[in-house]
Amino acid sequence: MNIPKNRKKALVTGGTRGIGLAVAQLFRRQGRGVVVTGRSSSGKAPEGCDYMACDFSDSSALESFAREISKMGFDILVNNAGINKIGPVKDYKQEDFDRIQQINLRAPWRICQAVIPHMCEQSFGRIVNITSILGVVSKPGRSAYSSSKFGLFGLSRALALEVAKDNVLVNCLAPGYIDTDLSHQILGEKGMAEVIQKIPLGRLGKAEEIARAVGFLASEENTYMTGQNMVVDGGVLSGC
Ligand code: NDP
Repeated sequence: MNIPKNRKKALVTGGTRGIGLAVAQLFRRQGRGVVVTGRSSSGKAPEGCDYMACDFSDSSALESFAREISKMGFDILVNNAGINKIGPVKDYKQEDFDRIQQINLRAPWRICQAVIPHMCEQSFGRIVNITSILGVVSKPGRSAYSSSKFGLFGLSRALALEVAKDNVLVNCLAPGYIDTDLSHQILGEKGMAEVIQKIPLGRLGKAEEIARAVGFLASEENTYMTGQNMVVDGGVLSGC
């Protein structure tokens, strides 16, 4: 991938669909070199992007992936891939809890660990970890998901302090209810209709609206914001 130095090279995990896809497309429009990830070896990258396969639920695949990306010299990282499974804690399966922590928290940690040395060496890096409003407040049935997203914010705060002196800025973006496969799958159409009633702006967010905010956090324009969890939710948390 040959890109002018001032255009920066970005890694977007889970860039095949939803929010990650919109972020990858925005970065391409900005002229950045973009690598996206998905699980399938036959997965498809958005136009103009490169593709790497890794299922983050597989620890050894994650380790090989982390070793590979550590040599690729990324300037920007967006840890976006994530899953959710709702259920009361009394019935929740240990394996489902572990899977959510592995994909939503452990993988972002290992991926940060892999890309940070290059960023520090060149005194420039931007990391955006996609959390959730359920990493700011919570609801019944979200013990696994909220644990992972609150954890991701904690990780981001600690990292932001570690690498601030090297001009590597680490932030989170906390989406509200966004119109993607994930939200439809988790809430169902009835649940979607119910949550829309709770959104002051009166509609679901679009993946592109999240991408624009990520675009700022990941950019050279962001020179002084680090360790934050930026909420983009159509006003939901203002009423909580
Ligand atoms: P989607 O389900 O639409 O897309 C998920 C992406 O993650 C896909 O590219 C998928 O790749 C990848 N992915 C899924 N499982 C794995 C895995 N085991 N290993 C590696 N990659 C995987 O999700 P959204 O766009 O809705 O969500 C993106 C992020 O935003 C998540 O972290 C989510 O928690 C967060 N979020 C979403 C909200 C919403 O309302 N949609 C609200 C708040 C937060 P592929 O299928 O190609 O393998």
